Amino acid sequence: MSTSDFSSLGLQAGLLKNLSTLGYEQMTPIQALSLPLILEGKDVIGQGKTGSGKTAAFGLGLLHKLNVKSYKIQSIVLCPTRELADQVASEIRKLARAIHNIKILTLCGGAPFGPQIGSLEHGAHIVVGTPGRIEEHLRKKTLKLDHVEMLVLDEADRMLDMGFQDAIDDIVEKIPSNRQTLLFSATYPQEIEDIAMRVMNNPAVVNAPSTHEASTIKQYFYQTNTDDERMNALRILLAKHKPDSALVFCNTKLDTQDVADELAHYGFYALAIHGDLDQRERDQALIRFSNKSVSVLVATDVAARGLDIDALDMVINFNLAHDPEIHVHRIGRTGRAGRSGIAATLYSDRETRKLDALEIDISTDELPSDTYLDKPIKKPAMTTLKIDGGKKQKLRPGDIVGGLTGKGGIPGDKIGKITVSSNWSYVAVESALVKPALKKIQSDKLKGRTFRVRILS
Ligand code: AMP
Repeated sequence: MSTSDFSSLGLQAGLLKNLSTLGYEQMTPIQALSLPLILEGKDVIGQGKTGSGKTAAFGLGLLHKLNVKSYKIQSIVLCPTRELADQVASEIRKLARAIHNIKILTLCGGAPFGPQIGSLEHGAHIVVGTPGRIEEHLRKKTLKLDHVEMLVLDEADRMLDMGFQDAIDDIVEKIPSNRQTLLFSATYPQEIEDIAMRVMNNPAVVNAPSTHEASTIKQYFYQTNTDDERMNALRILLAKHKPDSALVFCNTKLDTQDVADELAHYGFYALAIHGDLDQRERDQALIRFSNKSVSVLVATDVAARGLDIDALDMVINFNLAHDPEIHVHRIGRTGRAGRSGIAATLYSDRETRKLDALEIDISTDELPSDTYLDKPIKKPAMTTLKIDGGKKQKLRPGDIVGGLTGKGGIPGDKIGKITVSSNWSYVAVESALVKPALKKIQSDKLKGRTFRVRILS
């Protein structure tokens, strides 16, 4: 038995068996280093990035400890964003498949308060959420944390970046001090050390590389000295590689919008996400990018947080990141799960110092020919239909599939991702069939009602 076998840990039999059904054969480095300590009950700081398997590390820790018979909140996981909280909750649910009747609740901002209160009244074992909303529940006394035995701070560096320090302190104060505390962070600045000193008890620090194989991500560097050159380079790279999903990083909000607008002007299917968008605009951009109806998303590092898309073909740094850690984090978003990915970085002659700080072998690459600028731009495979009805109108994904298929409709396998939110639903259909799909769903009643449906473009 090797030390990276999950069976060396003494996990509950059900949890262990489920891991092999999930195809988790061996522990990732961060799991092998942290799980023995976590299961011993120690406080642990894990320096793990997305992709390292950190969620399963703390997820298994809290599930192993859990008493499902007691309907009290026993663990709480704080995450910087709603997207990340959803992602963490779904990973924990996967890990918990062998435990019957387990309730895992997400409590995040941007979602209505009422239903969260209702769910809390029914009792839950694990809460995953964002600090602001959890603090609000504590203030309104709709949430009690007196029985919490384990607290997890996930992506702690980002929570601090986002100004959640006070909220975290308020939450920690309401949790019994004999708890176990785990903290995960991609970087380890002074602020993390400070918060660890305040909220943790003699923590062990484990540091593990992420599981991306560096070899599957090919990095290219292109020198572009003027704004025009930079924009041209971006267009050439997108036109040459024709990615289904490419993430373009800019260093400022303003740039993300300008770059996305300019790309759209040249016919690319591109959107920006940044902090000035409202929740609905942001959700729509993420939905359209993840359902493959928009192929380029232009983002700041902050806005790209928690963006959970496994199949990025390409990451382009329109601006070089200020910090080598961030650069590595950006390019690690492509080439996940053994896929090959392309990472391209545009830099100017004024940025060579920042480039040196990356401490990797950089050979400047020659930009592909600008004849690519004249080539037609690849249209996304999918198109999004927006339906003016959602959970509040009791619409479910099945109703939408029903409204699109059947007589005069389109085949079910031409339907992509369906997202139902409170008042709207989004469904991706193959672009070639969008007209018949729209006609069919407009002529049909869904749940006995006619909803407004339109193409998002
Ligand atoms: P995370 O770093 O927690 O975001 O996890 C990255 C991905 O790796 C997730 O999709 C997990 O489902 C997967 N994963 C976590 N642990 C293992 C493992 N031991 N073996 C295989 N896949 C894993």
